[in-house]
This record gives sequence, structure tokens and C-alpha cells, in this order.
Amino acid sequence: MIITLDGPAGVGKSSVSRALAEALKLNYIDTGAMYRGVAWAAREHGIDWKDEEGIAALLPTLNFSFQRVEGGSHLFLDDRDLEPLIRTPAISAGASAVGVLGAVREHLVMLQRVLGEQGDAILEGRDTGTVVFPQADHKFFLEASAEVRAQRRWAQLQEKGDSSTTVEELQAQIKVRDRQDSEREIAPLRCAEDAVRVDTSNRSFQNVVNSILSAVREKKS
Ligand code: C5P
Repeated sequence: MIITLDGPAGVGKSSVSRALAEALKLNYIDTGAMYRGVAWAAREHGIDWKDEEGIAALLPTLNFSFQRVEGGSHLFLDDRDLEPLIRTPAISAGASAVGVLGAVREHLVMLQRVLGEQGDAILEGRDTGTVVFPQADHKFFLEASAEVRAQRRWAQLQEKGDSSTTVEELQAQIKVRDRQDSEREIAPLRCAEDAVRVDTSNRSFQNVVNSILSAVREKKS
């Protein structure tokens, strides 16, 4: 079984995917982490995020895998856990920048299909239901306004004791990424025609997870 879950930045895809993977015993493939991993590796090698030729030459040397660790599944590059390194604002911008490059998308989509076919899986990202697995068994598209998403991210940062960014700054960053992700030529962010839209704005996390679980179980039975 393949489930795809797409949607814009900060809508809660990762937490919802982790909960679904746990409940349904699925492999969890965070495709955004892979775009982040490419941006991180390019920076490590001193390759500009706009240098498609340079990045294209780097791609076949990158040995990515998802490995189970306590509390979930992390992206590894060889033996190195990238998770603590790829969640910065700079790498978010880098992921968006390398995500417009055809060579990067082609390579990562190929890897995502291989990973997805290794067992039942949930894939999360921007194009998993439209491009990576258009024939997925279940497709969902999460939505929430930029205001709501910025407010949630701000609350998460506050919880971690990080007060360095205001809600307004977060909202501006989210809008830039939304624009880049939806306006790019290749595989732009959009809801697949046959995906179920889930508006998370005024709903609790558990309520969203439960409604997706019910939809999956209903369709299965
Ligand atoms: O989901 P996450 O915020 O980690 O994704 C980081 C960036 O990677 C996104 O803003 C987007 O530009 C890119 N991405 C993509 N296609 C995907 C997943 C992520 O272009 N399937």
C-alpha cells in the first residue's frame, strides 16, 4: 500500500505522516528531507545551489537512506545522520532552490520510487501524489492558511525556547516558499485531482490523523 501526503510548508505533514506510519506500520519517506539533504551536501562541497551541472555530478555520489532511530526515521548520508543538520532556515531555502532543478527532481523521484516499492509506505512532500506515485492507493493534500501555519511554527519555536523569529517573519518566509514551490515549472506544488483535501486550520492534530485513518480504513474494507 502506498499513501501520499502533500501540502505546503508548515502545514503539519511530517507529524501527521509519522503518526500514520506508526498506526499503519508503514515505512515513512520524507521527500522534503531528501531535497534538504541535497542542498546540505552541495553546500558542503562548495557547489552553488543554482549550479545544475555541478549538483548533477554530485547526485550519483550521494548515498541516502532512511534509518529507524528512536522517535522515528532519519535521513542518513552514508553513516551520517543528517537530521540535526538540515532543519535550519538556510537549508530550507536551499531545498527550495535545488528543488527547481530538473536533474535533482529526476534523481530524487527515481530514489523515492525505489524506496516506496520496498514495502508499504507513506510518502510526504509536494509532488508525491502527482509525480512520484500518481497511482498511490490513498492520496491526501493538507491545507491551512499561511497565518495559521506561521502561528503554529512560532508556537513550536517558543516551546523550544527560541524567540529569535517573530510570527510576521515566519509568515513572510512561508509565503516565499509557497510561491517558489507552486510557481516552479517542474512538479509544482498542487493537489492531485484524486487527492482528498484536508483543511487542518481549525482542527486538532489528533482529529486530522483520525480522519485520515478512517478514510484509509474505509477505502480498504
Ligand atoms: O517539506 P520540507 O519543508 O522539508 O521541504 C523542503 C523544500 O523541499 C520545500 O520547500 C520544497 O521546495 C522542496 N520539496 C520539493 N518536493 C518535495 C518535497 C520538498 O520540491 N516532494
